[in-house]
Amino acid sequence: MSLFPKQIKLSESKDRLFISWNDNTNQVITLLKLRKLCPCATCLAEKENQSPTYIPLYSENQIKISSINQVGSYAITIVWQDGHNTGIYEFPYLRMIADKME
Ligand SMILES: [Zn+2]
Repeated sequence: MSLFPKQIKLSESKDRLFISWNDNTNQVITLLKLRKLCPCATCLAEKENQSPTYIPLYSENQIKISSINQVGSYAITIVWQDGHNTGIYEFPYLRMIADKME
């Protein structure tokens, strides 16, 4: 059975996503973490150039979501309010970075 989210919901506080998977696992991930772990080439290159002690600062519109779009049956892309939209979050990756909900 391939893994896919049955539902992805933005929290009322709009700072985290709730993900319900088709195997009935529920997860939660903060938008800050989601943005930090953006898998696009630009963000990965940026991370490589940073020193290990660098603490990234995000502005409000970098950690707020405009929209979430599904890509085929394997991933979602997120359009952030600062316009950044090149990260493709494949489902197994999303599953790995999200936290288990108690
Ligand atoms: Zn990115």
